[in-house]
Amino acid sequence: MLRRGGCLCGTVRYSVRQEPRVHYCHCEMCRRATGSAFAVLCWVERQTVSWEAEAPALRRSSPLASRGFCPQCGTPLTLDYDGSSEIALHGGTFDEPNSLRPGYNYGAERRLDWVCAGTDLPNHVITERW
Ligand SMILES: [Zn+2]
Ligand SMILES: [Zn+2]
Repeated sequence: MLRRGGCLCGTVRYSVRQEPRVHYCHCEMCRRATGSAFAVLCWVERQTVSWEAEAPALRRSSPLASRGFCPQCGTPLTLDYDGSSEIALHGGTFDEPNSLRPGYNYGAERRLDWVCAGTDLPNHVITERW
């Protein structure tokens, strides 16, 4: 199955040839990086992602990872851990996000009190340390 997505302004467009592993991330870094209450991260093998015109601009967001965003409109697009074969695309950037199915929570201990999404799903605590 081929999925497509892109940023708000259309400068960065992608296609993905793998069905993503989808989860909510409630960590503070995802919250700030998306400007939302939590992130919906969609993990795929890096080589299954094709950037159609322009690739995202990258900004180092921690000693472990970089985050990709559209250089024109600023839409957050990716979370990319150093040395990982996988890359995460932000769920809201898919053209058909309604068919994505989050399977668990990451950073559940940081979930905001008023966030109801994913309360019926398994919880994983944050394991990254630096
Ligand atoms: Zn854009
Ligand atoms: Zn996170």
